[in-house]
Amino acid sequence: MAREIYGGSQLSRTLRGLGRGFSRCCPQCGEATLFRGFLKVEPVCRKCGLNLGEFRADDAPPYFTVLIVGHIIIPALFLLERLQHPPVWLHMLIWVPTTLALTFLLLPRIKGAVIGTQWSLGIRG
Ligand SMILES: [Zn+2]
Repeated sequence: MAREIYGGSQLSRTLRGLGRGFSRCCPQCGEATLFRGFLKVEPVCRKCGLNLGEFRADDAPPYFTVLIVGHIIIPALFLLERLQHPPVWLHMLIWVPTTLALTFLLLPRIKGAVIGTQWSLGIRG
């Protein structure tokens, strides 16, 4: 039983779904786009017909995005502060746009990865 859950086939399916979702593609076929807009999920895949509307990522994508962006920005901010001790205005000039850019870059990809993982594990609704 454990081999079925953690064996190569389920792991490779999960990684495939995660990777396709991170690329903002349908987790099943990997060819059609997963999103209609920035974060709105297509109700049905245009290529394979997978019902994408039944996957609910809810709060997971923002949670993971904040977690990842925070773990990138905060150490970099402290490192810059320790090494150069720049003025606060320079910190703001560097870290506010960097934080926003990383957030807007990662949020749809992480939402896609969450949906791809849900697809691979059969989590719906
Ligand atoms: Zn598809």
